[in-house]
Amino acid sequence: MAIDILILGGTTEARLLAEAWAQQPVGRVILSLAGRTKEPASLPIPTRSGGFGGIAGLIAWLQAEHCRAVIDATHPFAAQMGQHAAAACQALGLPLLRLSRPPWQPTPADRWIEVADMASAVTALGTTPRRVFLTVGRQNLTPFEAAPQHHYVIRTIDWPDPPPSLPHMTKITARGPFTAEDDTDLMRQERIDLLVSKNAGGSATEGKLIAARRLGVPVVMVARPTRPVSAEAGDIPTALAWTAQVIRRTELQF
Ligand code: NAP
Repeated sequence: MAIDILILGGTTEARLLAEAWAQQPVGRVILSLAGRTKEPASLPIPTRSGGFGGIAGLIAWLQAEHCRAVIDATHPFAAQMGQHAAAACQALGLPLLRLSRPPWQPTPADRWIEVADMASAVTALGTTPRRVFLTVGRQNLTPFEAAPQHHYVIRTIDWPDPPPSLPHMTKITARGPFTAEDDTDLMRQERIDLLVSKNAGGSATEGKLIAARRLGVPVVMVARPTRPVSAEAGDIPTALAWTAQVIRRTELQF
């Protein structure tokens, strides 16, 4: 059976959209996961898992499924998937919606060091050995091997295989949401000097920023990569309204 909408997921936003969709379906939908997380949370709509095989693979998949539109609800740092979705939709003339949460903004009480990428985050740690709370995901640990003088407290959902080659580290595997209270306790117990975070936005992992603010711990904040965007939604109702509109419009053409 043809699919109306492909949702590219792996985020809280995609899960919330799936839950809203299950309550009030506005078309046939499938949610796509990259397949990296060992035990992904269950979802109330049909899913598929694994890469498409680059832009060409995604174009072929969209054509085979007679897909009418794509919602890119991937993580703000999943830049490659965003680029591929934009290129494939442009090639096929399909509408594309970007659903994402707004980035975090510093308050006057925060001490943020804003950097453009992971290599700059490593440099921002400085040469003096520090205790660093590293919350950048398991795919972004390798650059920190260039600064082995620090002790890293690394929190990831799944532990990377192979593990990072770092002489001083504490490993924490856990899935959010994390509360500000728990993260304050953790950062105090681990005597954290610096927090490194991607500017993911959203409430599920904001606790560490509140904890850093309370404890006066500086935050090395890595900016989001840019991605080509045509239509944008910052919340689920806007995404559902866009989808209903696209389905109505494309039905006229089919
Ligand atoms: P990425 O670098 O943008 O994508 C790498 C490749 O993974 C893509 O080219 C694609 O393979 C495949 N892929 C990514 N998302 C996919 C999806 N939703 N469905 C099917 N294939 C997908 O992505 P990433 O940073 O590795 O993130 C992977 C997934 O984890 C994403 O779905 C993202 O939403 C989620 N996530 C990422 C982060 C993060 O910080 N990066 C954090 C939380 C969750 P092909 O080229 O073969 O199609």
